[in-house]
Formats: sequence, structure tokens, C-alpha cells
Amino acid sequence: MRTKTAIAAIIILLISALVSCGSATRDSFTLFSMDTFLDITLWNPKNAEESKTACETEANRLENLLSATIDTSDVSAINSAGLSPTAVSRETAVCVSTATKINELTSGAYDVTVAPLVNLWDIAHPSENWAPPADDEIVSAMALCGGKLAVTGSDGSYSVTKSDENTKIDLGGVGKGYACGALSELFASRGENGFLSYGGNVAVFGKKPDGSAFSVGVKDPFDPSSLTGKLSIRSGIVAVSGGYERYVDYNGKRYHHIIDPATGYPSESDLASAGIWVSVSSPEAGAAADALSTACFVLGAEKSMELYDSEEFKNYAKSLGCEFGFLFIKADGTLVMTDNISEIYTTFEK
Ligand code: ADP
Ligand code: MG
Repeated sequence: MRTKTAIAAIIILLISALVSCGSATRDSFTLFSMDTFLDITLWNPKNAEESKTACETEANRLENLLSATIDTSDVSAINSAGLSPTAVSRETAVCVSTATKINELTSGAYDVTVAPLVNLWDIAHPSENWAPPADDEIVSAMALCGGKLAVTGSDGSYSVTKSDENTKIDLGGVGKGYACGALSELFASRGENGFLSYGGNVAVFGKKPDGSAFSVGVKDPFDPSSLTGKLSIRSGIVAVSGGYERYVDYNGKRYHHIIDPATGYPSESDLASAGIWVSVSSPEAGAAADALSTACFVLGAEKSMELYDSEEFKNYAKSLGCEFGFLFIKADGTLVMTDNISEIYTTFEK
């Protein structure tokens, strides 16, 4: 288990602040989970302490199922399994089947079996003397990727079966979106109103005290300490992927953490960031938005927009009961977005 993850398991209320805002109170707190920060804000909390505790318990529970670096997780069980089915939780089954669906829709741009390459590149926690892997190491790791995953089961009994015993999976691009939706539902079921941000994914739940839309800031991928615009949303989840959060600069070149399964290298599409809005704050919708943001970042603007317009994608959105919107910032600074996003996105003047 990684050091930060271990710390996360033990602690964790880093900040807890009650801020007055007119007649509304705003309670914000931060947890560390799934190797990233989880920031939560509740407006006029019903029961802030109990909601915080429930959120922390649920975030830890999900991390313990979905993390590839926790030995007892479902993901570790799948990774060490042979060709027999591995019994998994419903949560893991939903993440893997969402991943499989997005893999099919994106012609393999999203692929959780890319784990051997993610581990080889080791961008998330690079060593001090990090260097890019050699071409032959990349070719060897690529040979281990691309296996198929079959998810079966219903009513509390689920399993995942691999087509290749060498297959290893990494749910890093789907699990936080799932958790975003799950935690939103948890807060909503407790009558709370607010929003949460989980490593590049933002979910809103309930209503703002004044009834206005929530503003979700979109980071400037060229200056991630500032925002380039905002999305005004009344519901759902926004997932953003980019090469600006986790990367290593080496000999004048930037290597980021999103791998193009077709090349084995960090992706080099025309995008600086890929944002996906999904209209519903559910675990399934959050997982889909998270996986799609990673996939679209690999695919680039044109192929992602073709995906958006395809009948297959429309049917998928229908099956989830959700509306999706795409917001892309290209490497040349221009914006590409679907019509529904142009109605709710505002660019900030610089
Ligand atoms: P973050 O986890 O930083 O929010 P993403 O949601 O885009 O960013 O997920 C990136 C993570 O997904 C990587 O750290 C890695 O674990 C995994 N990953 C990298 N490339 C791919 C890919 N092509 N398909 C599926 N998962 C990937
Ligand atoms: Mg993602």
C-alpha cells in the first residue's frame, strides 16, 4: 500500500470549517482517499458530523474494494486470479462493466487492462531518478494488456472472469467517478445539500440555499492554479482528465499519467483537457463520466465528437437514463463543446 493511502486509512479530517454566508452556513472538510483529496462542502448541514463520518466510512470502504495497491481489494483478487471467475462486490462489478462498455465504445482508448503499462511508467509516484521506460519494456508490457473481462451476476452475487490469466487491471480512471456518485447519493439520502470534488471529478447533490445553479470551476490546463471558466449545473457530475495533474518532466519532455493503449506511451492527442458532464449523480453515471474523460483525452476532439454523435453512444446514455455533455480544451487553446454545454459554460476573462 502506498504511503499516502496508508495515511488516508488512518486519519482523516484535515480541514473542518464552518463559514457563514448570509443566512446559509457552509461546512467544508477534506479527506484523503484513493490517493487524492476528497473535498466536501455542505450547505446548511442537517447533521455535519454524522454525514462526515458516514462519508469517510463509505470512501474507505470503496477504496478497500477498488484499489490495486490494497492486497485484500477486489481488484487485487482479480489481478492475482487465473482463468476461474473471481467473486467481487456489486461496486467492483459495476466499475468493471462500465469500463468494458467504455472500452467498446472508444475502440480501446479506455482500457483498464493497461495496468502493466501504468505500473511500468510509474508516473503517479515517480522515483527520484525516474526515466522513461525503454522501448522493449513497453513492448513487453503491451503484450500483457488488452485481455477481455466478463462480468456476470445479479442480486448480490457477482464475478469477473479474465480471458487471459496475465491480465491485470487498474480502476484509477473509473473508481473515483463511481465513488463521487456513491457519496453524492449518500449525502442526498441524509438530506444534505452541497458538492464534492474527488481528484478531477465534481458532483453536486441537493440544492443550493438560494436555489441557483452550482458553479463548477474548470481548471486552466495551461495554468492549473487558475480557472479558465465555469459550468453552471443543477445536477450531476463533471469529470475532467488532463495531462497537467500528474506528470514527470524529463529532459525537456513532459510525460503524463494517461496512457494510449495503442502506443504504450502517454497519449498525445490534440487535447489539453477533456471534461465530461453527466446529468445524474449516481455511481453508474459517475463511473461512465470518469472513464469517458480519460478515454476522450486519449481519443482527441474529433473522434470524441464522433462518439458523442453515434447511435451506440446515444443508446448507452439512454440505458443509463442520463444526458452527457462534452467540453474539450485543445492543446492550441481553442474550445470544442457539445451544444448543451455551450448553454451552461462561461469562459472567464483573463
Ligand atoms: P485522475 O485519476 O488523475 O483523475 P483519470 O480519471 O484520467 O485521472 O484517470 C487516470 C488513471 O487511469 C491513471 O492514473 C491510470 O491509473 C489509469 N489509466 C491511464 N491510462 C488509461 C487508459 N488508457 N485507460 C484506462 N485507464 C487508464
Ligand atoms: Mg477519468
